[in-house]
Amino acid sequence: MSVVRRDEQFPISVSVVISLIIIVIIASVMVISTRQITAAMVPDSSLVDGWHERIGDRIVSSGFFNLNQAVTYTYATDDVLFPASLLVQTKKSLVLPSETQLLNQAVSEHLPDLQNNYSINTNTTMQGMRTLHTGHQTHYIVYQGVRNDSAQLDEIRCVIEVWNCGISKISVICIGVAQITNVSILSTDHSTMNYLEHILSDPIGTFGEQYQQPDGLIYSIRCH
Ligand SMILES: [Zn+2]
Repeated sequence: MSVVRRDEQFPISVSVVISLIIIVIIASVMVISTRQITAAMVPDSSLVDGWHERIGDRIVSSGFFNLNQAVTYTYATDDVLFPASLLVQTKKSLVLPSETQLLNQAVSEHLPDLQNNYSINTNTTMQGMRTLHTGHQTHYIVYQGVRNDSAQLDEIRCVIEVWNCGISKISVICIGVAQITNVSILSTDHSTMNYLEHILSDPIGTFGEQYQQPDGLIYSIRCH
């Protein structure tokens, strides 16, 4: 009889432990799933020279129990002669990848999309790190390319820049594209409107002297 009692007691204690574990897991998931993502964005004060957010292009998505969330804002100009855009994507996941992993992910995720519209020269890249106004250190890669629909004469530059924000527990991925020449324009007087400078500039001129301005779009992004 005593053997039978021990056998009966053992499954009960195990089931109690399993129930407690399940309750803890469910409670954890509920707490985590209510976390709101802090979306990185360009402050309004930096949106000058025709730059604006395309509100209709906002993308908000969330994965399993909200554990993976993403928000994408798209900024652009309406300049049809020298189109320029900046996509700012915020991702929140349980574990933040390293900046190196993040840059590799961003390149493999976004480069094919860019190659639909542009012939990107992946051999002539400029790669490095810089510090933004928030103090975050970024990893970036800049590509040269040409538009596919312009007899491949109009040049573009494309930057992919990433960083992690430990305060908001988010990863930020920026994809900037700017057309820098236009063969349909005979005058060379258009060069005053350089949207690439606006995308890349920072106070120390990481990308060169002409990119030394205090209000670069990526440099100014708020993420916490
Ligand atoms: Zn931040």
